[in-house]
Amino acid sequence: MRRSHTLPLLVFGLVVGALLLAGPAAARAADSPLWPRLPAWALDPAQIEERLGGSTAPSPPPVSPSVGASGGALTSRGGLSAPPPARRLTVGLQAGHWRRWEAPYPFNTHTGSQGGGKTEDAVNLTIARLAARRLEAAGFRVEILPTLIPQGYRAAVVVSIHADGGPPDRRGFFADRPARSAQAAAEARLVALLNEEYARATGIPYVYRGTPGTRYYYGYALVDPSTPMALIETGFLTSATDRAIIVDRPDLAAQGIAQAIQRFLTER
Ligand SMILES: [Zn+2]
Repeated sequence: MRRSHTLPLLVFGLVVGALLLAGPAAARAADSPLWPRLPAWALDPAQIEERLGGSTAPSPPPVSPSVGASGGALTSRGGLSAPPPARRLTVGLQAGHWRRWEAPYPFNTHTGSQGGGKTEDAVNLTIARLAARRLEAAGFRVEILPTLIPQGYRAAVVVSIHADGGPPDRRGFFADRPARSAQAAAEARLVALLNEEYARATGIPYVYRGTPGTRYYYGYALVDPSTPMALIETGFLTSATDRAIIVDRPDLAAQGIAQAIQRFLTER
């Protein structure tokens, strides 16, 4: 099956070339040993937008003259200054494995865990949507992100939502953050808040079991270096006890995540 290995290698070569030509975000991405072998189109936000067809993560609208005229001020040079920054902070919530078929190999093959007749992407998406509802009610702008996070994605914070799988007696949740990041201090605070609030809301025990998959998660390399990001394994989908929360009471899981994010963005 030589042919199946040739294409990924070719794509990898293209990506390495593109990374060498790109800026600091790409430099950070190249640091990661699990940096995904993205196709060339995945490095171009415009092409991603086109392929995702109504992306859930639109880039900020361009500052058109009409926007400047209504929201900006005349500068001393007679030009228009940028409009005042939006008051609403944007939160990115990634539903792990959701719409994975859009992502390049091998991420399109990562189906995630399953249990109790549920697949991880569906469980993650439900929790993400409920958390989004809470955060929007609190005044934040929320974007639900699929597997393929647009390259250079920016937000006030990004949290990736996942569920674990393992032997039936294994349970617990934990949050994790990038092994290396320009936002390490903020991400440490974010992880601490997620662990505290998620335990409080769900009663699921905290059991840290970080792996290269959670420390070098491919998504960390896709967001802009200015954007703090963490990942949460919400519980084991293979545990009937954890499923009683993450499947049967996803509102509680969402409450813990939303509460942590709200504190992260308001308690500076
Ligand atoms: Zn997962």
